[in-house]
Amino acid sequence: MTKEDKKCVVIHNGSHSTIAGFSNMELPQCIIPSTYLQRGDEMIFGTFEMLDEAQQNAPGTEVYTIMDSHGLPYNWTALEAQWRYIYEKQLKVSPHDLPLVISVPTSHAEFDMHVMERYFELAFVQLGVPVLQIVIEPLAVALSMGKSSALVVDIGAKGCTVTPIVDGTVIKSGVMRSKFGGNFLDFQISKLPQIDTPATASTCETWYNANTWIQQFKSTMLQVSDKNLVELERYYQEQLQLQQQQQQQMNGFQPYMVNPLTQKRNFLYNGQKTITMELRDCYKIAEYLFQPNLASDTFSSADGLSELMSKSIRKAGGSVSTMGTQSGGTGASLVYHRSHAAASGNPKSSSSAQSPGSGTPAAASSSSTTAAAAASAGGLTSEQVYSLLLTNVIITGCTSLIGGTEQRIINELSIRFPQYKLTTYANQIQFDRKVQTWISMSAMASLPNWELGRWYVPSDWRTAPAPASGTI
Ligand code: ATP
Repeated sequence: MTKEDKKCVVIHNGSHSTIAGFSNMELPQCIIPSTYLQRGDEMIFGTFEMLDEAQQNAPGTEVYTIMDSHGLPYNWTALEAQWRYIYEKQLKVSPHDLPLVISVPTSHAEFDMHVMERYFELAFVQLGVPVLQIVIEPLAVALSMGKSSALVVDIGAKGCTVTPIVDGTVIKSGVMRSKFGGNFLDFQISKLPQIDTPATASTCETWYNANTWIQQFKSTMLQVSDKNLVELERYYQEQLQLQQQQQQQMNGFQPYMVNPLTQKRNFLYNGQKTITMELRDCYKIAEYLFQPNLASDTFSSADGLSELMSKSIRKAGGSVSTMGTQSGGTGASLVYHRSHAAASGNPKSSSSAQSPGSGTPAAASSSSTTAAAAASAGGLTSEQVYSLLLTNVIITGCTSLIGGTEQRIINELSIRFPQYKLTTYANQIQFDRKVQTWISMSAMASLPNWELGRWYVPSDWRTAPAPASGTI
């Protein structure tokens, strides 16, 4: 691979949206749903095509998913059809012409080699892609922001994922995931008493609602409170009582005061009916991300975002400091992946990042890099790891666009780690946050040094030994 061949196709398959485009462009070419509509034998992809079809809600037309609850593909036939659609209709290039960069989410479990095999087969055999790079989503997000250590908080559709990255290494034992994300909120909104959803809605109807008015409802009505909602209620009650007492003492009148949580918000539902809700109810739905137990007793408060972040940081601190007291080899088993870029601590630096023999994607070179990563990260105490993570909290995922999310994350972390400095990074431009992972992948693919990521060619498939545990 030469520096001249910088143009690649970049496809990010999230569980809600798939974003595709070229690495030499600033913005992606298309954002389409990661689902498809099946009408007879025909698979329908693309936002507008699906919306048109779903609106008709014709009998026999169903919406199917491609990605599983961990954000990994399980419906490979549909994924192939979707990639073909992207190449033919959206990018208008042949898969044979350009390298391909794809993403995988982090997982606290071992990355499934079966999934890797299927990706290789799809890219090299079925589509004929010449070169393939697989990047880990949060690692790409952190490195493209110039951070080799970060706590990446991704609040997406299928849930929340918190990924600690230390010295360019994803600390696998610290990756925490919950199922409470955008889809869960969609479900809660559809159950509101003001909404007349039929008891048995078809998959088309459910998908159509989630992608039209429910999405608008989430962006205009929902708000994350800056502290635990139960505490906020108590705080406002106390404030009211205090003010009333003061007023009465001063002039003897009973003052007219309102609880801010009773403010009204309006939403035009289906263009016909106005739904009015108090601010406390808007807060309550968003609060499920932080306290899922408020939605049902069957959900544990330990799956709330605050707990996930706290556990992730502590586990990362524990893992890295343990690695320091062990040999590099043992430490390597804790490591999920290390990009060659991170060896320098500066992902934009092309010269220092290249290691001898890193051009060959053989497992040996990657495992040595992994062991080196473990050893370098292992030199840190848990306090140093906490500090590294807390000064680099990156907030991503579209559900984090709900107003107040960043402030709440700051407040929750400051309560749990009061002695540490805290810095968060959240892209303030709505569209940029939506395509942040794609932009990061694209930035990684466009780095001047091609050895910064790991490129696979068809001969690596089957012939190369399986990458060592700790690499994807
Ligand atoms: P995952 O991270 O689960 O694999 P994904 O990366 O495809 O999925 P995102 O695109 O980050 O998911 O998030 C999609 C979710 O964000 C959907 O539930 C969508 O309704 C919701 N969403 C999109 N825009 C907004 C917004 N402005 N406010 C609130 N929620 C939003």
